[in-house]
Amino acid sequence: MSLVHKSATALLSEMQSGSVSSTEVCTAFLDQIDAHDEKIGAFLRVDRESVLAKAADVDSRRSAGGALGLLAGLPVAVKDLLCTKGQPTTCASKMLEEFVPTYDATVIEKLDSADAIVIGKTNMDEFAMGGSTENSALGQTKNPWDTSRVPGGSSGGAAACVAAKMAPLSLGSDTGGSIRQPASFCGVTGLKPTYGRVSRYGLVAFASSLDQIGPLASSVEDTALLLQAIAGSDERDATCAPNEVPEYTATVAKPLEGLKLGIVKEHFAEGLDSEVGDCVTAAIDVYKALGASVVDIELPHSKYGIATYYIIAPSEASGNLARYDGAHYGYRTSDTSPVEGEGPLVTMYRRSRSEALGPEVKRRIMLGTYALSAGYYDAYYVKALKVRRLIRQDYDAAFEKVDFLVGPVSPTAAFGIGELSDDPLSMYLGDLYTVTTNLAGVAGLSVPCGFTKSGLPVGLQLQARPFDEERLLRAGHMYQSATDWHTKTPTV
Ligand code: GLN
Repeated sequence: MSLVHKSATALLSEMQSGSVSSTEVCTAFLDQIDAHDEKIGAFLRVDRESVLAKAADVDSRRSAGGALGLLAGLPVAVKDLLCTKGQPTTCASKMLEEFVPTYDATVIEKLDSADAIVIGKTNMDEFAMGGSTENSALGQTKNPWDTSRVPGGSSGGAAACVAAKMAPLSLGSDTGGSIRQPASFCGVTGLKPTYGRVSRYGLVAFASSLDQIGPLASSVEDTALLLQAIAGSDERDATCAPNEVPEYTATVAKPLEGLKLGIVKEHFAEGLDSEVGDCVTAAIDVYKALGASVVDIELPHSKYGIATYYIIAPSEASGNLARYDGAHYGYRTSDTSPVEGEGPLVTMYRRSRSEALGPEVKRRIMLGTYALSAGYYDAYYVKALKVRRLIRQDYDAAFEKVDFLVGPVSPTAAFGIGELSDDPLSMYLGDLYTVTTNLAGVAGLSVPCGFTKSGLPVGLQLQARPFDEERLLRAGHMYQSATDWHTKTPTV
C-alpha cells in the first residue's frame, strides 16, 4: 500500500518505529498534491519547502531521541479561515486575499506543539458561508468522486483533500454543517465537536454562537487522534469549556455495550433522497446487528431549524463582518473619486465592501442587518433565539431516552457544480439535518455509509450529548469496524 493510502494512525506508528521518516510521508502527500490538485482544487496554498524543512526537523529530533508530540511528523491540511502566523489566511475572499495574520490560532499552536506539519491551506466557501465551496472567490474545488460535482461546503477543500489522499488529516469548521456535509459528500469522516470543546481563538468568525473547529479524516480512529491534539480549554477563548479532555485515542476502539439509538423521525420525511435514505437505514441495521436498541425520536422544533439558523447566523455575521471596512485591514478600494452627497469615508467603506465581498456574503449581511434592525429585532432575532431554546430542549429530552441520534447528514448526495448556485433557498434547505446540532450546541459525527447508484458517497450522522465525544467516537468506530465504506477511495 502506498504511503498516502495509509491511515494517520498507521503512518504515525511507522514513523515511531523508524520504518518511514516524516520527510518520506510528507513528500508522498506533496507529490499527490502535485499530481492531482490541479484537477481537484482543494488547496489554496501549499509551501513545499517549509513542509519539508519541518519534516526534516522532526526527523532529526526523532533520531536524536528527543521527546516528540502526539502527531509528530504527520501532515495536516488546514481550512483557510484559521490564522497562520506569517502565512496568508484568506477565508477564500477577495477581502482577505492579502491578509497575513501576526499570530497563530490556538489550534495551529496545538498542532505545532504536537509536532504536526501544516501541509497547506484549503479552499472553502467565502467566510464559510455556503454548502458547496462554489462561493469561494479563489477557485472551485471539485468532488474527487465525480469532478462535475461539488465537494460540499463550506469545508470543501478540507474534505476533498482527505478523500483524494492529499492529506491524511485536516481541520475544518462547522457553523451549520460545514464539516459534516462535505465529509458526507466526499466519503470521509468528519466531527463537529460540542460548542466549547475546541478553542476558536484565531478562527475568523462567521457566527460566533455556532462556529466550532473540528477534524476530518479517513476514519473515526484518525478523527479521534486529531481531536485529541486540538481539544481543551484556552484562556484566550472565553467560550472554550474548562472540561477535561478525555483519552479519545486510548478508548476509541472500545465498543459500547447496550447502545441506545434514536432515529430522528423528522430526518426521514419528505425531501430525503430515497437512495440516501436506503444507505442510512442499512447503517442503522448494522448497529442493530451490533446489539444496539433503536427507537423513534421526535425533534418537533427541528422544522424551524432552517428559519432559525438563517436568522441567527446572518445576524451574527452582519456584526462579525462589520470589521472589514477597508480601514483596519483587508481590501481597500483604490477608487478615491468623490461621490456627490456622500462623505469620503462612507464612499471608501461602501466601495471596499462592494468590490471585495461576494454575493452570498452580501446576502447574509443584508439578511442579518435586516433581522437586527429596530422594528424587526423582536419579530425575527429575538423570536429565533426563543425557538433555538426550544430546539435545545428537544435535544435534552431526546438524550434522556437515547445515547445518540442517528439519521442522514444531508438530504442528497453531492449535487452538480452550478446546479443550485442560483437558488440560495434550495441550497439552504440542504442544511436541514445539520443546523440544529449547532443551534443546540451538541456534537455531531459524519461517517461514510454507502454509495448511490451513480457512485456518490452517502454519510450517516450521529449526534451526541454535549461533551460526549469520547463515546460518540467509539460508536462511530464500532460501525467502521463492521463495515468498509470508509476504506473506499476515489480514483483521481
Ligand atoms: N451551509 C451552511 C451555511 O451556508 C453552513 C455553513 C457552515 O457550517 N459554515 O451557512
